[in-house]
Amino acid sequence: MTISSPRQNVTRGGWGRVFRPHPISLERKWRVFGCLKHQERYTGNILLQKTYVENHITQKSKINRGELPMYYAENTHPAIIDLETFEKVQAEIARRREMGVFANWSINTTCFTSKIKCGNCGVSYRRSGKRQQTDSNQVYYIWTCQTKDRNSVSACNAKNVPEKMLQKVCAQVLGLGEFDEGLLLEQIDKIVVNGQDKLIFHFYDGRVITQHWESTARKDWWTPQARAAKSVYSKKNPRSSGTITCFTGKIYCGKCGQNLRRNTSTRVSGEKTHHWRCPPRNDCAHNGLEENLLKTISADVLGINEFDEAVFVDKVDRITVVSNEQLIFHLKDGSDVAHQWQFKRRQPAWSEERKQRHSKKMLEVWRDKHEQRENS
Ligand SMILES: [Zn+2]
Ligand SMILES: [Zn+2]
Repeated sequence: MTISSPRQNVTRGGWGRVFRPHPISLERKWRVFGCLKHQERYTGNILLQKTYVENHITQKSKINRGELPMYYAENTHPAIIDLETFEKVQAEIARRREMGVFANWSINTTCFTSKIKCGNCGVSYRRSGKRQQTDSNQVYYIWTCQTKDRNSVSACNAKNVPEKMLQKVCAQVLGLGEFDEGLLLEQIDKIVVNGQDKLIFHFYDGRVITQHWESTARKDWWTPQARAAKSVYSKKNPRSSGTITCFTGKIYCGKCGQNLRRNTSTRVSGEKTHHWRCPPRNDCAHNGLEENLLKTISADVLGINEFDEAVFVDKVDRITVVSNEQLIFHLKDGSDVAHQWQFKRRQPAWSEERKQRHSKKMLEVWRDKHEQRENS
């Protein structure tokens, strides 16, 4: 049996059950004993006809579940363990079965274990930890529906609940300033995670309290370090969804340092246009770079008449968008080429006033023509 340290079991950046070290001496004895503990024959006695051959042609052995009588033969052979020990072990097995998950040393149980239930599928939530990149001694815990965890979101889309949030809401429900494990164990039978923002507390005394909560998982987890790690990952693994073009992962913003993303919009005419922009909420003060313009500029920089994807991929390492006026092409041969560009704004839509002025003018033109025709 190998004993894993807690650190080995949780890979950085990945979710996993956080194990605690086993109390070896006790548990090892139990395991070594494992193969003996269900077998009465080690006590020197034997239970006969525990299995039987159902059909003499197939010779298939079946477990006797009362179809045939069983015979208990005592002192048939020397005992390996005495009957008293054997019976104690059977009692221990029963006790551990009763305790369920709490009897398993390898599962790090907390006061929430077996108490958090999925409102969708009814199973218990399990705890997952993620070591923080900044401080590997810190583990960020969330509770997840086991159906969702084992299968996928399509199997159960129950909400994950960060442990800190559980503690906070429990304290509120119990009317405490600070979370208290003991009081939770004493008073609360189960907590059902319901919908997007509800936790339903079932008390042992029969009371049921529904408490709203708001997930802070994204905020808690989405640290600048996590952002940077995600960005590195995204560069190595371009998204499979969405259109991958020769520009994907090659255009960076000089201000926020992030990859520009391709946005597609449809004009009134039905024509589709593509713009390369910073991720939303990054206030980088440069406008979107239109893809056609980017192609024209690229062709210009590469000295070719018409933009060619193969040439672009072959020659250009990346492009930095410095501002609304400047792009820098970093070529694979190590040279940098700065290029001016001008963001072209399309004609803004006509204002109501302008439309009225225009129709009035057109009316005058029409009247003039009409009058001229009548007069002539
Ligand atoms: Zn579920
Ligand atoms: Zn930016």
